[in-house]
Amino acid sequence: MIKNRRHTLSVKIGNIFVGRGHPIVIQSMTNTPTENIPATIKQIKELIRAGSEMVRITIKDAKAAEAAIIIIQKLRQQKIPTPMIGDFHYNGHILLQQFPLLAQLLDKYRINPGNVGKGHQREDNFSSIIKIAIKYNKPVRIGVNGGSLDEELFLKLKKKYSKKKNFKDLKSIWHEALIESALQSAQYAEKLGLAQNKIILSVKTSDLQDLITVNEKLAKRCLYPFHLGLTEAGSGVEGISASASALGILLQQGIGDTIRVSLTPQPKVSRAREVEVCRAVVQSLGFRHFSPKVTSCPGCGRTKSDKFISLTENVKFYIKKNMPKWQKKFPGVEKMRVAIMGCIVNGPGESKHADIGISLPGSSDKGEALVFTKGTLLAQIQQKNLKKQFLRLLEKYIKKTFSNEN
Ligand code: SF4
Repeated sequence: MIKNRRHTLSVKIGNIFVGRGHPIVIQSMTNTPTENIPATIKQIKELIRAGSEMVRITIKDAKAAEAAIIIIQKLRQQKIPTPMIGDFHYNGHILLQQFPLLAQLLDKYRINPGNVGKGHQREDNFSSIIKIAIKYNKPVRIGVNGGSLDEELFLKLKKKYSKKKNFKDLKSIWHEALIESALQSAQYAEKLGLAQNKIILSVKTSDLQDLITVNEKLAKRCLYPFHLGLTEAGSGVEGISASASALGILLQQGIGDTIRVSLTPQPKVSRAREVEVCRAVVQSLGFRHFSPKVTSCPGCGRTKSDKFISLTENVKFYIKKNMPKWQKKFPGVEKMRVAIMGCIVNGPGESKHADIGISLPGSSDKGEALVFTKGTLLAQIQQKNLKKQFLRLLEKYIKKTFSNEN
């Protein structure tokens, strides 16, 4: 639990609670054509295995709607309870009406108020979706996106703030339009009869500073839980850094209840990368623990060999491989800290702060590697078979410290 979490309402989505101090929920979205049922199921499972606690799928037409029904039924037959979210744009009101089984099977509907129609049609289409959500007792996410903001609302605000006495620059008007679009839609949904605790809000932009500004302002104006994410964050290091910075800044202020990282796919990189980034962000901030943390130094001119690099990789691999088994046998192991350091400058100190750490001898140091547990020297190990010896000590430490039988 985060002490400073913004006090929000709590929304139940399938078997998961979002908001009001519940752990930050990790979610993701498939990028397979939904009508390709085997590929979509395969990717959903991959995302879940990586740690996605909710999965969103695109429902763009009747074919996708029919496929989504089969996909959710198959997942449930296989006893996979992960909440499934339907992503609707332009025709959600038609598809949810046309496919009542889909409306029933989905755990949440995502509505983009900028993409439900124009003028009176907008109200009618939006209210159709909300009425279906009420009928099937489903929560909705009102998800505003900078790239598809309700143009009519923006122009209305632009006109309002063009006068000298209440003049606002275009950027501020745009921010206000994003916030108003979310709030007005939520208020209208409530007016139609949707319970307050069935609404999640999101306002996403592709610019980090815009995202922070609008979410900070929005957080002061309502109690709905927030879905956070930098939209269209890009790919690779840039996308990951921008997403992590944006999420980190907001989550640290207690803003954000469920998160998604939107990365442009890269060749040979799994879609599950976005889930890994979400988990790493939440764990780096210390809000949730999914897997033991490995602290390792970057190496420098004092490093004797690349042994600490290979040892770091080996230990990370060993942890990843064993975590499914350890989680069941050794509760609390996910909070463990392991340090792998290249020399005695920071090695012993950092190793002492970890549950178990190793300080390798640097280029000016003689002798053996030092292994510490909870600040106490446990062993001095020879360079030969270093990996094997350290992994053995690690396993022994885990058994002794986290075993159920202790
Ligand atoms: S611990 Fe030693 S090897 Fe690692 S970065 Fe620091 S000084 Fe360099």
